[in-house]
Amino acid sequence: MGDRMEYINQAINAIEAQDDTRVVHVSSLIETKPYGGVVQDDFLNGCIAIDTLKEPEELLDFLMDVEAQAGPRTLDLDILMYDDLVMNERRLTIPHKEMHKRLFVLEPLEEIAPYLMHPLLGQTITQLKEKIKEEQ
Ligand code: ADP
Ligand code: MG
Repeated sequence: MGDRMEYINQAINAIEAQDDTRVVHVSSLIETKPYGGVVQDDFLNGCIAIDTLKEPEELLDFLMDVEAQAGPRTLDLDILMYDDLVMNERRLTIPHKEMHKRLFVLEPLEEIAPYLMHPLLGQTITQLKEKIKEEQ
């Protein structure tokens, strides 16, 4: 909700400001209608690629801090993939459980990482996106 572009820019700046993390790619942003009957603004979705020395849980903690600073219902920062890592912990599932089902993830992700291989599904981001588009 609110100035969505500004929240996203602030998040990218906060990530970039970390000494142990570098933003290497930023996708364009796409607009998605919210599902369910809740009255709210459309979602603005995008993906970034980072190089980081943070461990996955440490990265999640940091991203949740950035979300908290932005305020409730403004930012949702998810970890889609982390190298070839596969993990399923209480707080963290990598790759993100829903990423291969969501066009609003796969479209921006394809812009920055078309040949990236999903470590569980054995398909590239482009292949996953084509599959969903066929199903629609
Ligand atoms: P969603 O992002 O699915 O809309 P939330 O952001 O409210 O929902 O979910 C937050 C919770 O999801 C966090 O408490 C976190 O522990 C958990 N989680 C599990 N896997 C991931 C992931 N890959 N990236 C971000 N959060 C994750
Ligand atoms: Mg989230």
